[in-house]
Amino acid sequence: MTTERVPYHEWQLNKARNQASRSRDPSTQCGAVIIRPDKTLAGEGYNGFPRRMEDRAEWWNNRDEKYPRVIHAEMNALHHTYERLDGYHMYLTGPACDECAKHVAATGITAVFWPRQEEQNNIRDRWSEKMARAIQTFADCGVEVFEVEGEKLWPIVQLSTVETESIDPVGEGLAFS
Ligand SMILES: [Zn+2]
Repeated sequence: MTTERVPYHEWQLNKARNQASRSRDPSTQCGAVIIRPDKTLAGEGYNGFPRRMEDRAEWWNNRDEKYPRVIHAEMNALHHTYERLDGYHMYLTGPACDECAKHVAATGITAVFWPRQEEQNNIRDRWSEKMARAIQTFADCGVEVFEVEGEKLWPIVQLSTVETESIDPVGEGLAFS
């Protein structure tokens, strides 16, 4: 019998995916985790209404009622982390929006990871404008952004704080073991 060891960044992403699975949002389940420099879990969150707000189905099923109430996974993870975040990393189940990006950057988090997005991905289409702004915000604030695909990292915003083994000149992503 052989065992397969999940690549490091996928392992951290799986923690975010596990968070997402608890969201009540009928259209999009998102998860976020905050990881310390020693690779341990510091905080976690998923998209949901604020604590103590009722989870009424009629609010969840009506966008006009849902959007003003819901807190994104990134923000919930920040709310549920009880320490300074300088130099920490964040893993997300999908691209960050512009609003979350500036708050994430403000905490001192230095790198953000989410799964590799395909061009035809629905979420990317729906969020493309906010995502572009988020990426600009991360770049302006010196926060690195990578898309994760198995053992590879695709740099979206790359500086020098994340150790990468090699850069593939034909743009096949960064080999990372
Ligand atoms: Zn957001």
